[in-house]
Formats: sequence, structure tokens, C-alpha cells
Amino acid sequence: MTQYATVDPTNGRLVREFATISDTEVARALDSAQAAFLTWRETDVEHRAATLTRVAELHREHAQEMAELMTLEMGKPISEARREVELSASIYDYYAIEGVDLLADEELKVNGPGRAFIRQAPIGALLGIMPWNFPYYQVARFVAPNLLLGNTVLLKHASSCPQQALRIEELLREAGTPDGVYQNVFASSAQVADMIAHPAIQGVSLTGSERAGSAVGAVAGQHLKKCVLELGGSDPLIVLPGVDIEHAVSAAVAGRFFNGGQACTSSKRIIVDTQVWDKFVAAFVEMVGELTMGDPREECTQLGPMASTAARADLAAQVDDALAKGATAHVGAVVPEGDGAYYPATVLSGVTPQMRAWHEELFGPVAVLYQVGSVDEAVALANDSPYGLGGAVFGPDPDEAARVADRLDVGMVGVNQVIRSAPELPFGGVKNSGTGRELGRLGLEEFANKKLIRTP
Ligand code: NAP
Repeated sequence: MTQYATVDPTNGRLVREFATISDTEVARALDSAQAAFLTWRETDVEHRAATLTRVAELHREHAQEMAELMTLEMGKPISEARREVELSASIYDYYAIEGVDLLADEELKVNGPGRAFIRQAPIGALLGIMPWNFPYYQVARFVAPNLLLGNTVLLKHASSCPQQALRIEELLREAGTPDGVYQNVFASSAQVADMIAHPAIQGVSLTGSERAGSAVGAVAGQHLKKCVLELGGSDPLIVLPGVDIEHAVSAAVAGRFFNGGQACTSSKRIIVDTQVWDKFVAAFVEMVGELTMGDPREECTQLGPMASTAARADLAAQVDDALAKGATAHVGAVVPEGDGAYYPATVLSGVTPQMRAWHEELFGPVAVLYQVGSVDEAVALANDSPYGLGGAVFGPDPDEAARVADRLDVGMVGVNQVIRSAPELPFGGVKNSGTGRELGRLGLEEFANKKLIRTP
């Protein structure tokens, strides 16, 4: 049974528990979301945009306190947590500022008399299901475009970040959203399925694991509801001969270890050409060894605990499987003594298809380095994954690196940079990494009725 609770990952202490809502409360929330939709959709887009501006301001006013809650509930180092609050604010700002233009009618060329255009219209109440790893940002990228459009939102957040879930609801309320426009629901998986089936819900968006995506997608399909899935990833980062080693190493370390490696777009598989292998590995391992692991409340901490000891046990089992089958650990790979869900920054090489680490997502601070003899081999290895979220290619010639990037089966790719989310840029993947896009114009269109209007 789902249990909403704050558990401090630095020591495993249960801080606060919250009851799951009753079925009666679920029914009331659905009715309220539907009733609110009928009036929210009629408000001016300028009014909805102004509400989002206020949400952004409130994020900034409360940034420190919101960041501290994140650090408490999932162990993100405090400096990174503040940056996430700012990124979330910038997403609300983006849709507030660009909203009127993004929602402008699109005139179509018609054969014959009259005019035709497409209007982006709202579709109704939506259900969002979000993970704990970027608790404010994941909500922002779903909620901001949809409230701008005129949809209303029910939000089921991860059971491990209930206080952040409530804080978001409070801020949206304080920003002036009317009753029913945004509601947090501490729902169980069974209640989520019932909600998707309910006629008031017109769409569902889930960010999380393949397991959850497949369960929610199946229910959405059964009930013919529009569904966006943002799932796991095992992003390749390819290093070509002649690369600027210092630049590639620092980007790869940041790309792999931000958020304790618990990010969908972490550079989980680093694929290095044999001509630069020795230099790259030496510099990479040295830099990883210097990362400061410790209390996430300290400003200097770069690597906090993982989000839970259960997540750490899963990661340690994947690493131990690789080591037992012959992989090499250059640094890390040993679970530290003492309290908390800490796992050290780890670098592996010699990973083969027989090991879990080859094809599974490693959702924590573990980088896997692969040595390849050619660009073709690098591309084949990069694409040999069930995932297709992001990727990166580093090399001396940006045009050549861009041609390699073109060959990757991913939804987002960076040339001489790792992918970083930005409000104006679409985010999403292919293969088992999901369906649909969030952010930018594409994110706004996912839950829009692209209504054709014909006039004489
Ligand atoms: P998770 O276990 O799948 O949980 C995500 C959300 O789904 C939580 O709210 C969870 O609720 C809910 N959920 C799980 N099973 C469900 C079910 N059967 N029915 C309804 N809801 C269900 O994922 P996580 O461990 O929190 O997050 C890590 C995963 O998310 C990684 O694979 C990561 O790569 C992926 N991710 C992807 C993106 C992207 O944009 N592509 C971004 C961030 C993370 P409970 O907490 O109550 O179980």
C-alpha cells in the first residue's frame, strides 16, 4: 500500500506521515477539477499568464525554504536544490511571457475559398503522476503549460515527497488559482487507475520508471485517454579522437553526477575512442575521486545520500553483479558504514552484455566507461539500449560530432555539451524512454485540442 511519508535519507529517520485520501475524497476532487475547468477555460489567457507569473515569484520568494524541504525529503545537495527551484520558476515565467504568442491561431493554406486555422484549445482535467528526483521541476513542466492552456490538474506526487507536494499546492493557491484548478492528491496506485478511468479526466502524464509508465499507459489505453510518458534513460556520451580532454571530462563528470546520478538524462554510458582512452580515463577517475560526498545541507557538498536505502541496495546489487562477472571498479563501489543512504561516486569499466549494468538504467552515482575502436562501433554501442532519451557527442570538429549525433536513436542530443533542460526547449525521448514531449511549444501542444476552424 502506498504510504506518503518524509524519511530523511541522511539517517533513515521517519519525519512525518500522511494518510492516503479516501475514495470519497477522490470523487470530490474529480468533480471539483471538472467544475473548475468549465470556468478556468473561459478566463483570458492574460489572466492565466499573470497567475503563472505570481507562481514564479512565489518560488523565488520561498526558494531557500523550498530547497531545504527537497534536501530533507530526497537528499539533494542544498545548492543544487536552490537551482532547481529557480529552474522551476523560470518555467512558469516562460509560459507566462510566451503564452499569448504560443497560443496564437495558426493560419493554414487552403485550396479554394475561405480561411482555415488551428486553435489550441484546452481539453479538460488532467492527471499528473510525478517522481521524487526533481520534485518541483517535474511538476512545473507539466502544470505551467496546462494551466496556461486552460486545463485543470490533479497531481499525484511520489509518496516520498509529500511535504513538497503540499507546498506546491499552497503556492498555486496563494498565486490565485481558483478552487479545483490545481489539486494535490495523496492517491494509491489503485485510485490512480480509477481516476484515469473517470470521464472527467481527459489525459494523464507520468514521469517515472518504465514499470510505472507501462502500468499507467495500459490503463490510459484501455480508457482511450491521451497519455504522455517521460521514462528512464541510459544516455550515451561519445568521446571522439582529438577531443579537448579537459572539457569532455568536466562535462562528463557533471553530466553523470549531478543530482547524485539520479537523473533520467545522466550520462550513464561514456563511450570513449581508444585513441584518447588512457588520458580520458585517468582524468575522469581523478575528478570523480575528488567529488565531495556528505551532508546535503552543507553548501560544499557535491554528492548527498541517495534518495533511500532501498534505492541504494538496488544500485549496489547492479554494481556487485558487474564486479562478480569481471568488471573493474576504478573508484568507489563500496557501500560506506554508518547511517544514511550514501553511495560513493563510482567508475566502472569492462562491463559486458552478460552484466545487468550493460542494459539496465543505473539510477545513482555510477559511471560506466566503454572503450571503442571506431565511430561506427561507438554509434552501435550507443544505440544498443532499450532507452532513447538523451545523448552527447564530444569531438574536435563540431560538424563531424553533429554528424555522429544525427546517428543516435535519442530524443535529445548535445554537441560538445550534455543536455540540460531549459523552459523553451522540448524534452523527451524515444524507445522505452517514453512518448511525447514536455516544455517549449511542443509541451504546450500535448494536451491541447488542435481545433480546426473554417470560416467563409
Ligand atoms: P517510479 O517508481 O516509477 O515513480 C514515479 C511516480 O509513479 C510516483 O509518483 C509513483 O508513486 C508512481 N507510480 C509508480 N507505480 C505506479 C502505478 N502502478 N500506478 C500509478 N502510479 C505509479 O519512479 P521513481 O523511482 O520515482 O523515478 C525514477 C525513474 O524516473 C527513473 O527511471 C528515471 O529515469 C525516470 N525519470 C524520467 C524523466 C524523464 O523526463 N524522462 C525524468 C525524471 C525521472 P509512488 O511514489 O507512490 O510509488
